[in-house]
Amino acid sequence: TARSLQDAGRRQTIHCTRPSTMTAWEIERYGSTSEMNLSTTTHIPTLRSPDDILIEVHAASVNPIDTRMLGGYGHVLFNKARQLKNCKQHNKRTSEFPLILGRDCSGIVRETGRNVDNKLLKPGDEVWAAIDLAKSGTHAEYVIGSSSEVTKKPVSLSHTEAASIPYVAGTTWTALHSGCLTKKNARHKKVLVLGGSGGIGTFAIQLLKAWGATVTCTCAPDAADMVLSLGADVAINYKAPNIMQELKELDGFDFILDTVGKYCDDGCRDLLLPGGSYVTLLSPLMHNTDDLGLVLGMARSAATFSCNVTQGLASQGKHYRWAFFSPCRDGLEQVARLVDDGKIRPVIEKVFPFRELREAYKKVATPHSRGKTVVSLI
Ligand code: NDP
Repeated sequence: TARSLQDAGRRQTIHCTRPSTMTAWEIERYGSTSEMNLSTTTHIPTLRSPDDILIEVHAASVNPIDTRMLGGYGHVLFNKARQLKNCKQHNKRTSEFPLILGRDCSGIVRETGRNVDNKLLKPGDEVWAAIDLAKSGTHAEYVIGSSSEVTKKPVSLSHTEAASIPYVAGTTWTALHSGCLTKKNARHKKVLVLGGSGGIGTFAIQLLKAWGATVTCTCAPDAADMVLSLGADVAINYKAPNIMQELKELDGFDFILDTVGKYCDDGCRDLLLPGGSYVTLLSPLMHNTDDLGLVLGMARSAATFSCNVTQGLASQGKHYRWAFFSPCRDGLEQVARLVDDGKIRPVIEKVFPFRELREAYKKVATPHSRGKTVVSLI
């Protein structure tokens, strides 16, 4: 096709004469989108570890975490993780700035470290990636990932489509596994997804259906058709006054995935069947460490967590977990297969050109998303 010829030409040119600088969106301090600067003189990152992989980014998504990190969210924990990594790599960099945000992408491998198995990944391969939160991000022409963060992308998707999936896939994968829900045991399990219409919800519904679970989700009335078209068995209007009654009539759930964070105190945990798990993506950990510092923030978070666990759940043999995104090679590979088998499709609400990244951030920070927002670099 024209695209692959174009890609092949581009690959050859860049391979022979790759420039030393790239275009990247950088911030020099935390704040609003006005802090985002499009630099054309950023150095292309170099491989620092034998597991590193240099990716030429063709498309990247924008996630709520990017808009929050722009405002400083999580800086205490992420800076600690950066310090530890820099120390390990004998990197003397002390400040996180200039900081490049962006957690996932789709693109082409340009260089690999000596530990990267060439049978798995080699220069020229089309890949997708979800990058650790403490690393330099994907809102740039090049990014470094590691073997655990980068796999071959689904062949059936364009780069723009593929870029919408890795971060939500990694998050959903970690959340389900942390509550012990896996491909092996999900068949016929009753799962409630609180918040079915956003980036995580639209992906989680499809993964759970591909695993054979029965999926109920909550969403606004205008999103019901979309979530049902993705495979949800039941869509419940969360704005209805009798929502708890409607949920109770469904006779309990084996697993609740909370992507909204407002339900815990509303008795949703009572909807769990014995042995069930309630996993939320909304924990107070980052806010606590940002406000109170590392030690006090962790201590307060531990206290909140134990309080949540002991509120009846543990004694009833039920489980309560906070889940966080974590890169997962196995998860990305399995999801790529499900995409190519037609079991999971990208749900993209809007695509912006790379130069309009600020507009994409504003869009993602505005409520009522329906799927993902992506920026295209090519
Ligand atoms: P999105 O902004 O894409 O989606 C949020 C969705 O929730 C929107 O469609 C919104 O639509 C819907 N919604 C809002 N209020 C409710 C409600 N009360 N009941 C049901 N649905 C509701 O976010 P993501 O899906 O990408 O992420 C979801 C949350 O998970 C975010 O807060 C994000 O920060 C967090 N997250 C945490 C991670 C971690 O590592 N712990 C990783 C990734 C995400 P509408 O308002 O129209 O109803």
